[in-house]
Amino acid sequence: MVSIASVMAILGGTTGYLLSDHYSNAADTALSAAAAESLVVESDVSNVTETASIPEIEPRRETVVLEQGSNLMATLTATGLERTVAYNAIEALRDVFNPRKLRAGQEFDLVYSAEAEDSIELLDELSFQPDPETIVSVSRTEEGYQASSDKVALTTSNNVASGVIEQSLFLAAERNGVPLAVLMDMIELYSYEVDFQRDIQPGDSFEVMYQELKNDAGERVRYGDVLYASMTLSGNEVRLYSFTDKNGDTDFYNQKGESYRRALMRTPINGARLSSGYGQRKHPILGYTKMHKGIDFAAPRGTPIFAAGNGTIAKIGRNGGYGNYIMIRHNDSYDTAYAHMKGFAKGLKQGARVKQGDVIGYVGTTGRSTGPHLHYEILKNNVQVNPIKIKMPSGKKLKGEELDTFLADADILRKQYAELSLDNRKIASAD
Ligand SMILES: [Zn+2]
Repeated sequence: MVSIASVMAILGGTTGYLLSDHYSNAADTALSAAAAESLVVESDVSNVTETASIPEIEPRRETVVLEQGSNLMATLTATGLERTVAYNAIEALRDVFNPRKLRAGQEFDLVYSAEAEDSIELLDELSFQPDPETIVSVSRTEEGYQASSDKVALTTSNNVASGVIEQSLFLAAERNGVPLAVLMDMIELYSYEVDFQRDIQPGDSFEVMYQELKNDAGERVRYGDVLYASMTLSGNEVRLYSFTDKNGDTDFYNQKGESYRRALMRTPINGARLSSGYGQRKHPILGYTKMHKGIDFAAPRGTPIFAAGNGTIAKIGRNGGYGNYIMIRHNDSYDTAYAHMKGFAKGLKQGARVKQGDVIGYVGTTGRSTGPHLHYEILKNNVQVNPIKIKMPSGKKLKGEELDTFLADADILRKQYAELSLDNRKIASAD
């Protein structure tokens, strides 16, 4: 009498398979093998392998999800995989991905092996997408498990949007289908010259052309760069074009080939409210009228403060009523100063180079201050000037051949924008 166990042994499994719900393919195989048992008894063994009603075993596949509070080891062993198999796969994974970075809800595609080793089920492949642009996989090879991390191939296309502002840029953008990420880029782009709380009027308008990146399935993975934007404020249009210069640096330039990025930012902090302007005011602590030689931005304690421009840290540390204070030297004539900080960015010291937009410290209320805010000063030839009124030193100007290249590229971007917006209007009128 041939036992089920011995049939299973021929098949390369164990009776243990019968007991586990996870092993549906193996269980089906075992049942059909059991049904064929009478045939097996009368036949010789070599005949069994040819005639038994067992199709070529398809590798078993499964998608499992990382549960809240679990880890990859527990997730893999819960499928019935042996600890050593799971361990070896995870160790290989570490070469390309830190398993601690996995989040609950992460899906894993598992392909089990059709062959077993010493009756232990093996895993042929483990793969997952930690983000929409990356595929990580661990595969079984003759040298053991090997991991790889690959970028998903994405195709880029251009999209356009435009609108007239009735109440706010935000509402106009939303109504005209501008994605939030694109809107934020546009605001950053124009923030060197436009005060979005003050300068925008009803009737102002905008145009934008931006990239959209899709995967093979045609699903949008993310938005890419803004390539062209235009804002018409009180009848005055400023068009900006993305351009990569001969050094490989990409920036925005106006129609004359002048960089729109200024040497200094007027507002070296995000999301803050201007709480006190430049000029004569009654000092909130000292009580008497005093010249306020900077501008104050109210913001929550800990809000990052940026270097307003490229430069060198000239002063850093406690500075009387200024509290924690930084002064940056930008060039022979301009400095900026930042006061009342809670603390400084790590590793920053006198003489250190900083780039525009680098975090240099955090909003606090040190020194003579009534609440968390940034006191910001721009100094021209060592004298404080009004950051709102000053004409900012301009950035780079394209010249010669580079300017010609830029003008030709800008022309192409402008034509692309016109064609795409015409297409959009055709689609809209066909609806
Ligand atoms: Zn102040």
